[in-house]
Amino acid sequence: MPRYPRADGRLDFKSLTLDEIRAEIEGVGSEDFRALQAYKWVWQRGARTFAEMNNIAKGARATFEERFYIPFLECEGVLESGDGTTKFLWKTEDGWQIESVLIPDGDRLTLCVSSQVGCAMACTFCLTGDLGLKRHLRPSEIANQPLQIRAGLLAGTRITNVVMMGMGEPLHNFDNLVAALHTYLSEDALGFSHRRVTVSTVGLVPAMRKLVDVLPVNLAVSLNATTEAQRSAVMPVNRKHSMAELLEACRELPILQHKRITFEYVMMAGFNDSMDDAARLVELMRGMKVKINLIPYNENPAREIRRPTDARVYDFQTVLVQAGVQCSVRSTRGIDISAACGQLGKADPRSATDWFARVRAQPGA
Ligand code: SAH
Repeated sequence: MPRYPRADGRLDFKSLTLDEIRAEIEGVGSEDFRALQAYKWVWQRGARTFAEMNNIAKGARATFEERFYIPFLECEGVLESGDGTTKFLWKTEDGWQIESVLIPDGDRLTLCVSSQVGCAMACTFCLTGDLGLKRHLRPSEIANQPLQIRAGLLAGTRITNVVMMGMGEPLHNFDNLVAALHTYLSEDALGFSHRRVTVSTVGLVPAMRKLVDVLPVNLAVSLNATTEAQRSAVMPVNRKHSMAELLEACRELPILQHKRITFEYVMMAGFNDSMDDAARLVELMRGMKVKINLIPYNENPAREIRRPTDARVYDFQTVLVQAGVQCSVRSTRGIDISAACGQLGKADPRSATDWFARVRAQPGA
């Protein structure tokens, strides 16, 4: 595992697993216990320094200090949508900008997390793809997004669901993703239930197989088309892992025994929203226990692509539902702050407010 040492040789504490931390602090005495204490301070209490860990013996604290640093993302701004959706702009240590989106929906509060700076998948309809891949995010950067946002929430409010649907292709950053997900799921760290963590992918088949082998999280697959030619036209990944290969893998994944795979289907007017597409989609889903999530395209000035009418989306959904396929329409959230699907990467920090300061200033916070 990469440890991301700084120039002074200290390691990124938040990119390490508890076992790795234990191995690094040999010689402090009671390593297992000390490592767990520091780990909980960092992930459960949001500690910024080892100095503040006042139940850890001074000598052990000094060893931690010598060997590790505790990284944080710098929050550059927060944009709030009229619909309650909030977008966080973060700056990494080396100056890249990434984003997370917090989406309240009834009794759910879903956090959409980024996994890379930019993305290498180059799906033609997606704005994040325009950036290309700048770099993979470290485990600490993937896990700091929920940690730091959680710290700013009002008492009694908590993030209920996490979706890896922000910038980047999570499975292209496999090792760092898995390390971060361990932190998400560990009861000694962020403590999310695996039922409430979803990884979304363009369909990197070998990595999908590997992921379900090591972690019990939910899987979402961006399908977006009903024929090979159509999919290859907008998702270059289809030339490497065809839809046929992808669907066959989905049929065989052991995950199907206890969970449903979600297929995301971005609806683009005149491209993949015909009734023939709906009928083909029903056929493609045969024999699988799935959910389809229709995402009406979020228009933007950089693309000619149009969003289908609500009536068309409804008719399309009806074909699926009548054929017995579970199918929902993703409501569009945060469009006014460019926080909706496919819009991440074009940040406009002008209207940023100091969300954290404001939330902290509220009575009872
Ligand atoms: N790379 C992963 C994770 C990103 S999820 C994946 O593709 O699954 C982002 C989702 O938004 C994907 O389902 C993508 O197909 C969809 N999307 C991209 N641009 C969009 C747009 N303009 N409108 C609606 N959905 C879009």
